[in-house]
Amino acid sequence: MDVKPVTEIKTKPVPTLPDAQTVTEVEHYTDRLFRFRCSRPQSLRFRSGEFVMIGLMGDNGKPLLRAYSIASPSWDEELEFYSIKVPDGPLTSKLQHIKAGDEIILRPKPVGTLVLDALLPGKRLWFFATGTGIAPFASLMRDPDTFERYEEVIMMHTCRDVAELEYGRHLVESLPDDPLIGEFIGDKLKYYPTTTREAFPRQGRITDNLASGKVFADLGLGIDKLDPATDRGMICGSLAFNLDMKEILEGWGLNEGANSEPAEYVVEKAFVD
Ligand SMILES: Cc1cc2nc3c(=O)[nH]c(=O)nc-3n(C[C@H](O)[C@H](O)[C@H](O)COP(=O)(O)OP(=O)(O)OC[C@H]3O[C@@H](n4cnc5c(N)ncnc54)[C@H](O)[C@@H]3O)c2cc1C
Repeated sequence: MDVKPVTEIKTKPVPTLPDAQTVTEVEHYTDRLFRFRCSRPQSLRFRSGEFVMIGLMGDNGKPLLRAYSIASPSWDEELEFYSIKVPDGPLTSKLQHIKAGDEIILRPKPVGTLVLDALLPGKRLWFFATGTGIAPFASLMRDPDTFERYEEVIMMHTCRDVAELEYGRHLVESLPDDPLIGEFIGDKLKYYPTTTREAFPRQGRITDNLASGKVFADLGLGIDKLDPATDRGMICGSLAFNLDMKEILEGWGLNEGANSEPAEYVVEKAFVD
């Protein structure tokens, strides 16, 4: 009888996605929002606040990639992302179903303007975010460098409903007790969450709370506007929000900066409308 030697029997290799990373944790907040963590490529170096392209393999066998802010700080061993779930969204209609152990695609080429290096030195740093626009600030709020460069950091975040604030609230409230960065933060971080549709102790749009001076009074800052000599801003929200914010900050004399030319504020879209 002709018996084939065992060495000739080959197992089919398990296909691995290009730039694959393994999901380690998934947490859902609402039917529109979730966060997940994944392994980090050893070679990936990034500055807190930058974004990368991530995604899944599409039905056509081609990678389906979208821009995502890295929500974890640059020192973290893993990567964290905070995501919308768009019901008919090509990527997020699938991405929202990922589980620990699944693979995602991550192109390790971080870019972006929401970085500390794109701002001139100052005393007070403002983060202005709507919705998932808090993601880059979730990274920057966990970076010791942020608190070494600024005496005071103010996180303004606005969502429609209270449940949509949960990711940011939990993060901010856990930071002072964080064994790694709690000591850098001390009492420097101030948090100003508001809702626009549901009752909440603080309500209203970021732009309205700045223009009316309410946020300055509520936080007892003793100012009535941002000062280009001392205040620095980072903006991340919808296009309309970003434009309204730029108008307010420019009206107070702050200029837009970039990696190549640092100035008083920087802005990035949280998504493309
Ligand atoms: C620089 C940059 C950074 C980004 N970072 C993030 C991030 O950290 N987290 C994240 O969830 N998304 C982020 N996005 C948006 C992301 O790239 C995708 O648009 C989103 O994941 C939806 O993908 P999709 O294929 O399901 O739908 P898409 O076809 O991409 O979007 C469909 C529609 O959904 C709406 N939409 C998309 N994203 C959002 C959002 N985040 N919030 C509210 N409405 C949205 C828009 O109206 C859009 O036209 C970022 C976009 C840019 C440009």
